[in-house]
Amino acid sequence: MSAASTHSALSPPSRVLLGPGPSLVHPRVLQAMTAPIISHLDPIFLSIMDEIQERLRWLFHTSNPFTIAISGTGSAAMEAAVVNLIEPGDTVIVGVNGVFGGRLAQMIERCGGTALRLEFPWGHIIPPEAIEHALNRHHPIKAVALVHAETSTGAWQPLEDIGPLCHAHDALLLVDAVTSLGGMPVKVDEWGIDACYSATQKCLSCPPGLAPLTFSERAMAAIANRKTPCQSWYLDSSLLAAYWSERTRTYHHTAPISMAYALREALQIIYEEGLSPRYARHRRNQQALVAGLNVLGFRLLPSPEQALPSLTCVSLPTGWDDKSLRRLLLEEFNIDIGGGLGPLAGQVWRIGLMGESSRLEHVLHLLGALEVLAHRLGLSQHRQGDALQAALSTYTHPPSYPGNSTHTSCHS
Ligand SMILES: *Cc1c(COP(=O)(O)O)cnc(C)c1O
Repeated sequence: MSAASTHSALSPPSRVLLGPGPSLVHPRVLQAMTAPIISHLDPIFLSIMDEIQERLRWLFHTSNPFTIAISGTGSAAMEAAVVNLIEPGDTVIVGVNGVFGGRLAQMIERCGGTALRLEFPWGHIIPPEAIEHALNRHHPIKAVALVHAETSTGAWQPLEDIGPLCHAHDALLLVDAVTSLGGMPVKVDEWGIDACYSATQKCLSCPPGLAPLTFSERAMAAIANRKTPCQSWYLDSSLLAAYWSERTRTYHHTAPISMAYALREALQIIYEEGLSPRYARHRRNQQALVAGLNVLGFRLLPSPEQALPSLTCVSLPTGWDDKSLRRLLLEEFNIDIGGGLGPLAGQVWRIGLMGESSRLEHVLHLLGALEVLAHRLGLSQHRQGDALQAALSTYTHPPSYPGNSTHTSCHS
């Protein structure tokens, strides 16, 4: 028998994706990906790139001309930010309170830079005073690098006051907004962020494969003043700018055409919902989730006021076995959530309510599944239904559901 005749049709299940990404993708976005492929230099494709840039500026709250989508996932945009700004001899202050701060520090060192790690316990933020103290002690500092939404711990790093602090010390501010962009405000211009990146598969609810990136004029000037060429050819912002710029449009690499269609549609859906309603929806559903989890004995890792709307990291109550319960959630209830990374492996769960995944019905689905499992396995003394009721009680108004179709863009 030939391999072809035994090959079964592709049929991945429609999981309820409530992990740290990828998030659920709207059917309109999947539909967009089936459109015909055109050339990456076709005038129609170039106008799609313009539309993506314009919408990304809107989402990042910026007027930065250099606002593009890197071909690759969030780590590629992280690498693009680091490799363009940092060269041998540069010193960077890096907030490390989870996996992604650590990854940033490693990338900085691979570029020949020195990473001054400001280490704080996982689940905590990097206090602005600690950043100020480090800026006062070391000179010169090329940049301060911070993770806005630390997906490994669910901690929400405040950024409002950091930009002016960095600029007073002639340092750039580099921000990882992978799990925040599209789920909570990321105000690049107002907060004085010089380099900011994200990814499509978290709060933008698009498949993984593109990664938004924006550089301020200050960042562009630092790049123009480099002593050495950017060590990455693929991620060199000057070469990328020549392709993304309306004036030049020089071929650099072949853009992932279908992913650009998907991102354009995902951004359109966000635009139709509006930013304030979208941020409020993420916050509301997270509060409902946390209220229900509390009933079951889970505890938030970060303090409640520092907890992200898009990613809830909770410690497991005693007696709950991480792996076997996540397997039951997946196999019996079709729900995918994330376990802990590094030192938190086996200790915590990471529940993502990002973009399309952030809906009350998903919160209730997960809590209902956990109530059933808790009862079956004798893990909790609570009355069945209490966790669902606690979640529902956080809504001051009865939650509204989007019509009778899943194809609308305004979700509860
Ligand atoms: C997911 C994530 C990344 C990496 O993104 P990939 O798309 O997995 O490469 C970087 N930073 C943070 C904070 C993330 O959550």
